[in-house]
Amino acid sequence: MTIEWDAGRLDSDLEGASFDTLAVRAGQQRTPEGEHGEPLFFTSSYVFRTAADAAARFAGQVPGNVYSRYTNPTVRMFEERIAALEGAEQAVATASGMSAVLATVMSLCSAGDHVLVSRSVFGSTISLFEKYFKRFGVQVDYPALSDVDGWRAACKPNTKLFFVESPSNPLAELVDIAALAEVAHANGALLVVDNCFCTPALQQPLKLGADIVVHSATKYIDGQGRCLGGVVAGRSKEMQEVVGFLRTAGPTLSPFNAWVFLKGLETLRIRMQAHSANALALAEWLEQQPGIERVHYAGLPSHPQHELAKRQQSAFGAVVSFEVSGGKEAAWRFIDATRMISITTNLGDTKTTIAHPATTSHGRLSPEERANAGIGDNLIRVAVGLEDLEDLKADLARGLAAL
Ligand SMILES: *Cc1c(COP(=O)(O)O)cnc(C)c1O
Repeated sequence: MTIEWDAGRLDSDLEGASFDTLAVRAGQQRTPEGEHGEPLFFTSSYVFRTAADAAARFAGQVPGNVYSRYTNPTVRMFEERIAALEGAEQAVATASGMSAVLATVMSLCSAGDHVLVSRSVFGSTISLFEKYFKRFGVQVDYPALSDVDGWRAACKPNTKLFFVESPSNPLAELVDIAALAEVAHANGALLVVDNCFCTPALQQPLKLGADIVVHSATKYIDGQGRCLGGVVAGRSKEMQEVVGFLRTAGPTLSPFNAWVFLKGLETLRIRMQAHSANALALAEWLEQQPGIERVHYAGLPSHPQHELAKRQQSAFGAVVSFEVSGGKEAAWRFIDATRMISITTNLGDTKTTIAHPATTSHGRLSPEERANAGIGDNLIRVAVGLEDLEDLKADLARGLAAL
């Protein structure tokens, strides 16, 4: 039996609502059943009342769903919630973080265009530009992330896009997003920021002047290591192009994953603050330990861009990397001596992870490229989770004792 509800009460009024409220309520649609949780629409297609209704929906004359590669109500709820949190006109969900990057470049660049990508981006992002986009005639150069003058100098008349991750992985380098946006715009280019490490809970690049934000929702947006997904957010003008590519090519988000991410977003700010508090305390503690030569974390006053980080972010995130005395063997001994922390390169999970970048995420670079990127053999990366701080210290102390 279907219960008739007063339609006026089915949607919350969120006019002027702040981040925490939007994280819990933005985008939610209710069916006439009156469910309190977000409904999960597991359907590939939709039925029409009449042949004329089908024709009108296909022609776009009447709004409504046609096929879940085009639109799905659960996916749309996730998109609207992300758009609200990033301060974007529109967001578009994708099957993974990589398909968010793919869709952005495919929809905005053509053969003969030039893009600038910061040297320190995620490994698969580099491969996508180097192995695939270059094959289709997109020119790519890689300026150093923080050096805004270097970006200006690298611009050409055909530069279409700037692509950055700030903070970078694993060394937590930053770029002044507002300054870089000015350089991009002065050269007729758009600035794309991969906001995966901060999430909109800690940094809102669009408010700093960036044009487009991309995410691997697989990381902190889910936050609990369950689902792959991604999202692109920005102005409707550019997002319409992204939608067009995704509908045609198909790397769209599963409604189930969208539903999991909706739940993740409800606790996003609380989690990011807890991750950041744990990470800051561990970074401060590591800096005091014998056997640790250097700690890379933007929350430390010793970080060269600490002041920029305080201006641009509301906290410093979960990723801490550090150099141990010795080389690869010492770093491996440290990692192998831990007994609780997971040895994996993943991040964005409640469970703390530890990895050796030089032989995993950055293992395909030549020794020289690694040296240029600042990835030493003695570098260890920890993505700090939500376990008790003293338990984390006790586990890392096993690593220190093994040095
Ligand atoms: C993981 C990650 C990606 C890729 O996301 P997937 O969901 O694994 O496709 C892109 N950028 C950054 C910064 C990441 O950490």
